[in-house]
Amino acid sequence: MAKKKNQNIIRIQFNFMWIWGAIIAIIIAYSFFGTGRAEPVAGDWNTVEQMIRNGEVERIKVINKNTALVYLTDGAIEEYRNGDENSRFKNIPEHGEQLNFTIGSVDILDRDVKQAIADSGMENNPVTVEYFNETTSWSDMLINTLPWIILIGFWLFFIRSMSRGGGAGGNIMNVGKARAQEFDKDNPNKRVTFKDVAGLAEAKVEIMEIVDFLRKADKYRELGAKIPKGALLVGPPGTGKTLLAKAVAGEANVPFLSISGSDFVEMFVGVGASRVRDLFEQAKQKAPCIVFIDEIDAIGRARGKNAGFSGNDERENTLNQLLTEMDGFQTNAGVIVLAATNRADILDKALMRAGRFDRQIDVGLPDVKEREEIFNVHLRHLKLDNNIDRSFLAKQTPGFSGADIANVCNEAALIAARGDKKCVERDDFMAAIDRIVGGLEKRNKTMSQAERRATAIHEAGHATVMWMLEDCDPVLKVTVIPRGNSLGATWSVPDEERVHVTNEVLEAKLAGMLGGRIAEEVNYGTLGAGALSDLERSTKITYAMVAYYGMSKKIGPISYYDSAGTRDTFTKPFSEQTAIAIDGEVRRILEEAYARAREIIEANNDKINTMADMLLEKETIYTEDIETILGPSAQSKKDATEKADTQAEITSEPATTAPSEATEAEKSVNAKTE
Ligand code: ATP
Repeated sequence: MAKKKNQNIIRIQFNFMWIWGAIIAIIIAYSFFGTGRAEPVAGDWNTVEQMIRNGEVERIKVINKNTALVYLTDGAIEEYRNGDENSRFKNIPEHGEQLNFTIGSVDILDRDVKQAIADSGMENNPVTVEYFNETTSWSDMLINTLPWIILIGFWLFFIRSMSRGGGAGGNIMNVGKARAQEFDKDNPNKRVTFKDVAGLAEAKVEIMEIVDFLRKADKYRELGAKIPKGALLVGPPGTGKTLLAKAVAGEANVPFLSISGSDFVEMFVGVGASRVRDLFEQAKQKAPCIVFIDEIDAIGRARGKNAGFSGNDERENTLNQLLTEMDGFQTNAGVIVLAATNRADILDKALMRAGRFDRQIDVGLPDVKEREEIFNVHLRHLKLDNNIDRSFLAKQTPGFSGADIANVCNEAALIAARGDKKCVERDDFMAAIDRIVGGLEKRNKTMSQAERRATAIHEAGHATVMWMLEDCDPVLKVTVIPRGNSLGATWSVPDEERVHVTNEVLEAKLAGMLGGRIAEEVNYGTLGAGALSDLERSTKITYAMVAYYGMSKKIGPISYYDSAGTRDTFTKPFSEQTAIAIDGEVRRILEEAYARAREIIEANNDKINTMADMLLEKETIYTEDIETILGPSAQSKKDATEKADTQAEITSEPATTAPSEATEAEKSVNAKTE
């Protein structure tokens, strides 16, 4: 029994292409090996004439007036095959025709044969001449038609693969059919429920309300309310939009049709629109039901002004059809469309108006509590060490999406398996997080001792400046283990409670980023090229401060940010003078940050060297190690003062500010400084 279990069962699936392969193989084999009969030897009239004179020819068969096949007498065959005189005829076939040759004309052959018989002087020379008209043999026919067979084969294959996008059966007639997947809510293996979706509490409430509209439509109609037509799930990649939609399918007791935006796209004109029509047709038949279109940006992109030149007519037709179907002209009673995208900004405005996708549900990156819940979901299936602290893991993964966390859990299990461990431990999770953020560890990278020290000084520079500035994020660890493209990294934990990013915070961040390069400059007097990514990021942030966030007094409260991304990239939205002024302000801010960081580094250079020594010895150092060298961090001192103040003061209502998209991005980017 046990043996049976271990056997690998190889299931070979039948494939349509096999038939074509077999036909081609048979034809090729046939053309090489023929019927297995020996081929006649090529001859000429002179040889045959001599044979007739010798009385060796029994009959001559003329095919299609151009080929003569010569049959020799048994005695002659025996003689030629076994005799030594003529080696050319040693291989003549024992049966059938022995020679063949091409004739010029039937009349001449007739005359010459008669002459040769007369010359032989034999009275009963047996030669008879027969004439036949033969069509080509089937193998010749096959060889002649082979190119056509192959052509037709390719054509069929092509059509099949195109129509596979259409309805079932791979029939060309189905190319305009939508290949929507209907969720089988009764299949327990595939069923996803809200239990599998961690966090996203608000999104779950909103989305369940939509399901409720369908289930209890009368309740809403009686009050005169119109049922919404659709909801758009918007959020960064991997935040669980598709998962949420699948959970709706699992929870709702209505049919759920799922299709991807790219399934509408085909090279035939009109297919996209026809598939949209078909999808809604299917949905109407199943109403009340939910249609889910994943990655709707594949068809819902804003229509261009000069459609004739854009080459996107087909996509626009598809979108127009979708707009019409979702509009009031069609009676789609009982059909609610859910769609997911991570580029809501590029969607056509007509798609987003009330009456089509009435609701937008934001599915954002999870906060620390939600990350803990997501860890709980994905750790369910792992064999874990007892002291795994989920809240600690959540704190270590700022800016991670649900998909990233799922990846961390899997990666940790793989790392543990590589180390032949019995269960997945905390270190495996830390290694997995490092790997996902920083890339593959490259411990074997060849580096001289001097280069390693320069890297350690660089990282110690970052860490020291960040440690000393209270507006910087707290430093978590510093490492000189090369990963991906970087030789080392300083990790900090973004303060998730901070929803309001000020110019002070950004200026402190700039100083922290420049700290590495300055530490090298102060210690070695040289400027290394390794600070490229620090310089690039700090320059980008400074340009954003000046041109997007209006943080420069000289430029004023103006933003040149283009959230819709529709501006053409060749023209600047400001004058040449403003461009010069922006450059000047960027330079000033960066130089100020540089000076600030340099002051800190010069004052603490001996400690930076101590930290570099520790780094070279331990490779990775943590908050506690840094504290032994630099004392308590500026952030912890600030926290202590704030706590004391809060206890003393009467609490007043804090101002709330919604985090901007750019601020969120800044937060997650900040986690690692190379
Ligand atoms: P995209 O926009 O790139 O299509 P998405 O938002 O649709 O991404 P999903 O495909 O839903 O992302 O999520 C990918 C995987 O991430 C899921 O299969 C799941 O394992 C994990 N995941 C994401 N969010 C969550 C969550 N809130 N709870 C549990 N798992 C999650």
